[in-house]
Order: sequence, then structure tokens, then C-alpha cells
Amino acid sequence: MKVLKFGGTSVGSAERMKKLSKLIVNDEPKIVVLSAMSGTTNSLVEITTLLRQGKKSDAAAAVNRLEENYARVVAELYDTDDYTEKAAGVLKQHFELLRSFSPERFSDKEERLILSQGELMSTALQNIYLNEHGVPSVLLPALAFMRKDQRDEPDMYFIREVLLRELALHPECTLFITQGYICRNFQGEVDNLKRGGSDYSASIIAAAIGAKEVQIWTDIDGFHNNDPRVVEKTHSISHLSFDEASELAYFGAKILHPTCVIPVQESKIPLWIKNTMNPEAFGTLISAETGPGAIKAVAAKDNITAIKIKSGRMLLAYGFIRRIFEVFEEYKTPIDMITTSEVAVSLTVDDTLNLDKIVGCLKCFGYVEVDHNMTIICVVGNKISESRGLAAKVFNALADIPIRMISFGGSRYNISLLVESVYKKKAMEALNENLF
Ligand code: ADP
Ligand code: ASP
Ligand code: MG
Repeated sequence: MKVLKFGGTSVGSAERMKKLSKLIVNDEPKIVVLSAMSGTTNSLVEITTLLRQGKKSDAAAAVNRLEENYARVVAELYDTDDYTEKAAGVLKQHFELLRSFSPERFSDKEERLILSQGELMSTALQNIYLNEHGVPSVLLPALAFMRKDQRDEPDMYFIREVLLRELALHPECTLFITQGYICRNFQGEVDNLKRGGSDYSASIIAAAIGAKEVQIWTDIDGFHNNDPRVVEKTHSISHLSFDEASELAYFGAKILHPTCVIPVQESKIPLWIKNTMNPEAFGTLISAETGPGAIKAVAAKDNITAIKIKSGRMLLAYGFIRRIFEVFEEYKTPIDMITTSEVAVSLTVDDTLNLDKIVGCLKCFGYVEVDHNMTIICVVGNKISESRGLAAKVFNALADIPIRMISFGGSRYNISLLVESVYKKKAMEALNENLF
């Protein structure tokens, strides 16, 4: 069994859905994981924001606009009245649900329910299209098997048990369609795997059933050596190791969800990145092996906050860093980078939900300085921190850019640098010119 995931643009119009079916209809057994049609999750986010702000009529207008888009897709996608009606009937239920929310009774639970509608609609439309063309595909409800545990991690045991049971119900079927992104939390409520989470759904499913490989089909011909949204003249990388891809995804390469590599890495399942617009292109193979070249790629993670704690009490003291870390642990806030000197500790976070409380606690240790609007630039490659001259090359490239923090040697695969976000583009361009 293979797992194929198609992102928003790959199901972004009636035409794309038709093309997609050409890629998935063959005898090879597969589970196809679909995102919402591109733009849908953003629209759903907008609807939840309007409801939270009490703007009921604006929210209703946004629902109407979305419904009109879907009506156009249905009109183009199906050939027969029967299947057009079938699809329209399914959509009607989703839009009735979207209209049922009101600002008076609106909590996180309702918000997550709204956000789940995009993947439910795209998979239903695609499945009905396949059935109209005589393809006996089966829709697997992700909300029945995709579950997170109390720590917000995938509940792999549950997912495996339920998925295998569902698959066994259809021994003849070779094409299963399911929703990416959506899941249930440990309380059984509808939840999600965070933005871009369909990649993660695919790798969790692959690990759960021991799939042969995962294919992430998107709108670009593989993992590029730099962010093509920021830098010109980037190129696709043919091979990356799990560690390299994992660092790049975690440090901002939007092409993969930050934790998507973890489940497949544990099971050593190869992960391909392929382009729906150009299926013949090789793409990128992510596996236990790396490819040629020491420096592979650059990625950047924005909206980083740097916190510096200065204290004379740190001098020759022990247990100081532990006590600082305990503050972050108490507020469930992960730390990305850390550097220390004799009298100061600097660290970075991207989750600022509890920042005020954290800073309040840290003030017990000494003087605290907070800087917002920072970016982590991450240079990734095979044994990058052990290869002679590579660090010098990186720093030479960035000679004109003020660097706030450097993390080197913590991992064999990356050098991370913290800069003010205004220098991000210049830094990424300089690295592109000098490293590749
Ligand atoms: P999908 O909707 O298929 O999940 P995404 O928009 O999430 O697609 O990811 C693909 C996009 O990621 C590309 O179009 C590209 O703009 C962006 N991207 C950012 N960094 C990289 C990178 N290093 N390599 C390739 N694409 C990248
Ligand atoms: N539809 C979700 C999003 O836009 C999940 C995904 O596309 O992977 O974030
Ligand atoms: Mg994505």
C-alpha cells in the first residue's frame, strides 16, 4: 500500500480534480489523502474570526461567497444530473452547518468544527467524481481513525487498529480517499493537525499501516535549496536524508509540515515530493540516505521572539539553566535556539501565548530583554557542523548582516542564525549566491 497526499492546489479547481484522478486511477493499492481546495481553509479561518468578533452578517456573507465558489466547481466537475445533485446535496449539508454558528455561542470547539469542513468537502467531491466515472473508490472518514492523545501527539496504536479494521472491510478496494489535516482530540472532539497538517496526516497513516512509501504531491517540482517565495534562482534537490528534511521543515520550509518527517523516519518509509503540474519530474526523495553535496538548503522561520536573561548570579552557578527551562516547561512553550555566556542566556520561542507570564517568572532571575520580529535562518546539510570551512563560508556570506544569535554544533545537520526579520531576504539571497 502507498499513501499519496495531494495539497490544496492539486484539488484547487474542477479541472485539477479531473487531472488528479488520472494520477490515482490504476491498479496500485493506495490511500489518497486530500487537503481542502486551495483558499478554503483561509476562508474558514476568516469566518471563525468574524464570528469571534461578533460580526454575524459579515460571517454569513463569507459563507455565501465560499458556497458560490463551490457551486461553480460542482457545475464544472460532473457530467450527469445524478452526480451533480449528489454532490450538491453533500455540499448543502456542510454549508447548512457553517450557517448554524452564531457569535453568542462560539468557542474553540465550534472553531475547530468549522475548520474541518474544507477537507470533508474536497474528499466528498473527488470521491463522487471517481464514482461517476465508474471507479469504485471508498471514502475513509479520518474523524473515525485519526486521533491525538493527551499530549497532542498522534495516538498511533488507536490509528493503526481502526485503520486496519476499516481497510479490511473492503478487501477488493485498491483506492481509498481520506481527509488530511482533520482529527479528533483525546476527548473525541473534532480537532486538526495545525495549518499544512495534511502532510502530517499522510505520514502518520503511512507509519500506522506500514506503507511502502509516501508521496506528497504539490505545486512545485520537489524540495528546493532555498525558499522560492523569497529568493530567485532556486533549484530542486533530488535526495535529502530524513534528518535534513526534518530540520528544513521544522525551520520553516513551507513545502512540508514541521513534524511530517517524524513518523516516516521512525519506520524508514521513503517520502517523495512530486509536482502535480509536472508528474514526470523526478522530485525529491527523502529517505535514510542523503545525496551528494555538503550544504543542501536554506530555510527560514519567521515570527520568532528572542529572550535574553542577564544575571550576575549565573557566574559559576549550577542549576541556573535548569530553573530557566522549568519556566518554559510550566507554560508548555518549546525553545528553538539557545546560547549562553557566563552572565546571560539567550533563547528563542515562536509560541508567545504565555510570553507575559514567562517573562514575569524570568524576572526573578535577573534582567530580561525581549525582542520580537526575529527570523531564524537555518542552513542544512550532511554533517555540516563537522565539515571544514563550511561555517566560514556561511559567515562570510553574511558578512554585511547583523547576526543576533548563532547555534552551531548542536546538530550535525544544521547551522541556525537569528537575525531581525528585516534582514531575512538579504540574508537568504546572500546565502543563495555564496553557498550553491
Ligand atoms: P500544498 O498546498 O501542496 O501543501 P504548500 O503551499 O503547503 O503546498 O507547499 C508548497 C509551497 O512551498 C511551494 O509552492 C513553495 O512556494 C513553498 N516553499 C517554501 N520553501 C520551499 C522549498 N524549500 N522548496 C519548495 N517549495 C518551498
Ligand atoms: N487545509 C489545511 C491548510 O490549509 C491543511 C493542509 O492544506 O495541509 O492548512
Ligand atoms: Mg502544505
